[in-house]
This record gives sequence, structure tokens and C-alpha cells, in this order.
Amino acid sequence: MQRSAEVVILGAGVAGCATAYYLAREGVDVLVVERDAFGSHASGFALGLLNPLNATGVPGFNQAMIEAGFAMHHTLWPALEEESGVDIQVRMMPHLELFLAVDDEARQQADMARWAAADGFATTRLTASEARELEPRITDDLHGAMLLENIAMLDSYRYTLALAQAAQHHGAEFVTGTAIGLSTEGGRVTGIELANDVIACESAVLAMGPWSEVASAWIGFDIPVAPLKGEIIYLEGMTPALEHHVHGDCSIVNKPDGLVWIAATQEHAGFDETTSTAARDTLMAKALRMMPGLSDLKLVRQTACLRPVTPDSMPILGRAPGIEGAYLATGAEKQGIQTSPAIGKAMADLIIRGETDMPIDSYGVERFA
Ligand SMILES: Cc1cc2nc3c(=O)[nH]c(=O)nc-3n(C[C@H](O)[C@H](O)[C@H](O)COP(=O)(O)OP(=O)(O)OC[C@H]3O[C@@H](n4cnc5c(N)ncnc54)[C@H](O)[C@@H]3O)c2cc1C
Repeated sequence: MQRSAEVVILGAGVAGCATAYYLAREGVDVLVVERDAFGSHASGFALGLLNPLNATGVPGFNQAMIEAGFAMHHTLWPALEEESGVDIQVRMMPHLELFLAVDDEARQQADMARWAAADGFATTRLTASEARELEPRITDDLHGAMLLENIAMLDSYRYTLALAQAAQHHGAEFVTGTAIGLSTEGGRVTGIELANDVIACESAVLAMGPWSEVASAWIGFDIPVAPLKGEIIYLEGMTPALEHHVHGDCSIVNKPDGLVWIAATQEHAGFDETTSTAARDTLMAKALRMMPGLSDLKLVRQTACLRPVTPDSMPILGRAPGIEGAYLATGAEKQGIQTSPAIGKAMADLIIRGETDMPIDSYGVERFA
């Protein structure tokens, strides 16, 4: 018997899983098609930092989306943990922004003023010695720091898994398969084509992350999404654990897995997801400049994955032009974990009600025509 669902979602990264969750919660019959496993690409390997003050498109184009995503996370976590049984390992964590060069503070003056004015995020300007009192392992070659409170950190893999399992709890189904096309009739979506199968549906959400461009041929409209590779290295043996997210040339943070995560590189390297010694050495050099004692720790892991990026670094969300029932949810670049609740809810609203509480018209793929 042919499989069918009201809505089929392609891709079980955080964009697809969040959309599945918000749809299933409203009783929609959802099926997610993933060719690998939930969160087996960027959504499972991201740092998990949620900082709405220091994000691409803030201040500006992406501000409302980032702020909405950050606020929604706080109400979402307890529901997801209860519905999925997964501990997302959320920590509210102070952020220490280091001024490593003489002109760092002057360069970041506008950002600092914006941070200081933001509601809900206490900020304190620190001298170098005050910063080192808070975290003595920071370099003494420092020109000051800014302390920013109420930044969040979670485990991206567990969060994506929690979205998927909570969606299943509400009735969503997940299947393994590689989508190779859309079936349409009279300009309407009628199904998703897999290698040896077609899944009938009324709506299809293309949430294929950095691989989204392949669907341009399916919808007859260019979806300009490309991969931006990012690597993270992991060190063992930090005692006592760091209590701050230390940020300067890179991020240094102790996670509940007991490891110090040093993140992340940015490289245009096609679809290559292998780790490299060059990235390891670059990250280590940046981290040692910030915290020289890290040289005593043991490197135990390294990961690489791909961010989905668009030409203007902003997500592509909304209806696919020209095909009734086809939707796009991709291109969240460096902020896909942070924005995922806002993206998932907006996509669900659009599919169920034809309109969204949060305006998303400016995120349409038509802006690249
Ligand atoms: C090193 C690094 C650190 C990051 N840190 C942060 C952070 O701290 N905070 C933050 O908010 N964001 C962060 N990000 C960004 C975040 O990880 C991404 O924006 C987000 O994961 C993108 O999610 P996605 O669902 O769009 O894509 P993906 O996670 O790539 O998921 C897409 C899925 O689609 C599947 N797929 C593709 N084609 C098909 C097909 N034809 N058929 C079936 N399935 C298909 C893929 O297998 C994949 O599982 C980071 C990214 C990187 C690389």
C-alpha cells in the first residue's frame, strides 16, 4: 500500500524536526524523511550556543527571528524534556568577551553599548585583572573583557533528538530514505519521490540544510544554499571545569560531557565533512592565545559539519514559488539551533493557517530572483 501523510518533511536536522514538532503538536499527520539519522549533520554537532545579542543579522534583518527563537527556547525546553524524556543539558552560562588586542574594545564599542542596553542581559565591563579574578586561566596578555549574563548553552544533538522524539510523541512518523524529487499535478504537490517509492502528501517541507540546492530542479526555482564547513576540537582534563563561555578569537567552553569544546572554523570546502589537521592547528592556536594552559590538556575528539548558508546569510523560509503545497525551511547558517523554535512554529503556522504570527515575508526565496 502506498504511504501517505498530510505533510512530508525532507530532512531531520533541527529545521525539519522543529517543524515536525510544531505541526504534530497541532494534530497534523506528519512524516519526516531523513537519509541518515536525526541530527547526524550540523544539527547534531553544533556548539549549542544561544546568544541573541551576538548573531548574524543582529541588529537588523534577523533580529526579530533571533529574539523570538531565544525566548521560545525557554518555554520549549521543559515541554520537550517531558515529552521526549531527553535531557537537553541546558545551562545558563555567563559569557566573557575578551579584548585580546589593544583596539578590540574600541572596535566592538557599538556592540557593547547594544549589549548593555538589552533587557534581561546584565553586562559588566571588566579590567584585565578583574577578568582574570573571575577566570584565572585566561591569558595575562589581555586588555579587558565584558561579562554578559544569561546566555544559554545546550547540547545540540540531544536538543534535535528531543524535538524528533517529542514530535513522535505527538504522532509524527520518521522514515529513512533519500528524496529525489517532488510529484506534482496541476501545479500542486501530490507526493515526494524516493528511489523506489512515492509518498503521497498535500504539503512538502524542504528542510535539507546545505543540500537544499538540489531541490532547485524540483521546484524550477534556484534555492541558493551552499555548505560552510565548521570544525570543533574537544579537550579532556580541565579541572576545575570552566564556569564561563570564554569568547575571543574562538569559543572555549566546558560542556556537561566533561570536555572543553573549542569552536569553530569557517571554510568553504564544498560538501567535505572530514576533519583536518589545519583546522585542528588553527583552533588550538586561537585557544592557546586566550588560555595558554590548555596546552596541558589532551585532545580527544574533532568533528566537522556543514552550515547551510545563503548569499545574504539569512534563512530561506516560506512557500516555494509556483508550486502549491511546497515550502522551504533552510539556510539558518550559524544560528539554526537558536532560531529553530521560531522557524518550526512559523512553518507550522503557515501550513496550518496560511499565515504566521511572526512576519516571515522577507525570508522568501524570491528575494534572490
Ligand atoms: C561547527 C558549527 C557550530 C555551530 N554552532 C551553532 C551554535 O552554537 N548555535 C546555533 O544556533 N547554531 C550553530 N550552528 C549552526 C547550526 O548547526 C545549523 O544552522 C543547523 O544545524 C542547520 O540545520 P538544518 O536542519 O537546516 O540542516 P542539517 O542539520 O544539515 O539537516 C539537514 C538534514 O537533511 C538531510 N537531507 C539532505 N538531503 C536529503 C534528501 N535528499 N533526502 C532526505 N534527507 C536529506 C540531511 O541528511 C540532514 O540530516 C553551528 C554549525 C556548525 C557547523
